Amino acid sequence: MPASLLIVEDEEPLQVLLTYNLQAEGFRVRATGTGDDVDVLVREEPPDLIILDWMLPGLSGIEVCRRLRAREETRDVPVIMLTARGEESERVRGLSTGADDYVVKPFSVPELIARVHSILRRSNPDAVAERLEVGDIELNRKTRRVRRQERDVDLSPTEYRLLEHLMQNPGRVYSREQLLDAVWGHDIYVDERTVDVHVGRLRKLLNKGRRSDPIRTVRGVGYSFDDRFGAC
Ligand code: CA
Repeated sequence: MPASLLIVEDEEPLQVLLTYNLQAEGFRVRATGTGDDVDVLVREEPPDLIILDWMLPGLSGIEVCRRLRAREETRDVPVIMLTARGEESERVRGLSTGADDYVVKPFSVPELIARVHSILRRSNPDAVAERLEVGDIELNRKTRRVRRQERDVDLSPTEYRLLEHLMQNPGRVYSREQLLDAVWGHDIYVDERTVDVHVGRLRKLLNKGRRSDPIRTVRGVGYSFDDRFGAC
């Protein structure tokens, strides 16, 4: 069961961007623009983690966080607080809000995703699998090692991220643009052909001397980790 996240952010473009990227990462995501909704949403289904903006119309992020901490059922839900750069973030840190982590705006989406993974690993080890295994390929997130048929495959950080992203959702087809956003981040301008180059390298390293290729090229769309790979 994928981890469930709740995003509380009133800036709509940011809310949409985070929802899209965290869904692409395999999480179940609900989002709202107001702190007043949090109580109802949390009672409806307790999330595994909340991403909470500090400056919200109505109930502020700090107040939302305090209320979560005050209730027995929500006391332990991890909270990542989004704060503005400068004095405000200093102030918010000074106030003991009970947040588990703070991310200062503007931030990069891959950085936030990395924090989400790291907090979930600590709070709920089952929510983010430490090991991904499909067919004869094994990826260990803790050691960042990849093995195929018990042999180490030496990947660069980019190829590792690419494989990790594809392996989290076997069968799902990603466009080059989606892979660029997930692996390289939104802030960097990289040509879509870069994806082809890295997929090519990843294949070469992964398939060395083997005939079966777990990465499927979907013409005119993009790439996918073959969900039937290793099934036969
Ligand atoms: Ca805000």
